[in-house]
Amino acid sequence: MVQMKKRTKSETRRRRSHQALKAKVLVKCPQCGQLILPHTACSFCGTYKGKPVGQVKGAKVKTAKKAAKEAKAETKDKSQNKKK
Ligand SMILES: [Zn+2]
Repeated sequence: MVQMKKRTKSETRRRRSHQALKAKVLVKCPQCGQLILPHTACSFCGTYKGKPVGQVKGAKVKTAKKAAKEAKAETKDKSQNKKK
């Protein structure tokens, strides 16, 4: 096979000027604070804009009981810190 025409350095460089990878844009989930892609449901807590959107694969959805337990634990921690 024979090359049709030699590509100049500038042609090659111009073409490759668009090949750089860009950093992913991430935003904080308003519900759990994890970094997620914008305009998508959170895969960590299964919410979109702070509202639950059904089951998301691999998401751990908080039940009312669990949330109450966690709140209790947090208040306990705070009271313990005050004693110190
Ligand atoms: Zn989330």
